Amino acid sequence: MQCPYCGSERLKVLDTADAREAIRRRRECLTCGARFTTYERAVAVTPVLVKADGTREAFDREKLKRGLWNACAKRPISAMAVDQLTTRVERYLQSLGQAEVSSRVVGDKVVSELKDLDPIAYVRYAIVYLKLDSLFSVRAEIDKLLAEQHTPAASMVESHTEETPLSMAAPESTSSAAHTVPTPRL
Ligand SMILES: [Zn+2]
Repeated sequence: MQCPYCGSERLKVLDTADAREAIRRRRECLTCGARFTTYERAVAVTPVLVKADGTREAFDREKLKRGLWNACAKRPISAMAVDQLTTRVERYLQSLGQAEVSSRVVGDKVVSELKDLDPIAYVRYAIVYLKLDSLFSVRAEIDKLLAEQHTPAASMVESHTEETPLSMAAPESTSSAAHTVPTPRL
């Protein structure tokens, strides 16, 4: 930062106040003695995506949502859940604090989020994103998913406190909706 009067970078902070929208600082220039105020605000910047062929593309919320809708078609996933997932991906990109990131970062984040949300939507998205082009590669992905779902349930029963192992058979039990709205036991 430079003094707006003389351009010097020898500045001293006199005091700092934390307001709701910005942090306000009183500063003094050690070269010319001028006093002035600066405001520090958070700016959320979504990085530009660099595709595999080197071309750049702005992050497009609507495009991501269309891809998610295709993967989630006819699954018990609410519009709100798709919207929230989109927002989580966008916030994640912003949190990286970079001007550009590989478009793979988006795909990897979506894949990991969908894995928690709905296994069928995850497999659908993975087929397109990971370019699975044979039944064997799709089966390998599903086997991996099944192994991940069942191994923790079997080996972590003692430390598992949030859910009872009774619900492990239902695929819906892994969706985020199941965490917030427990199915009543009859
Ligand atoms: Zn100055």
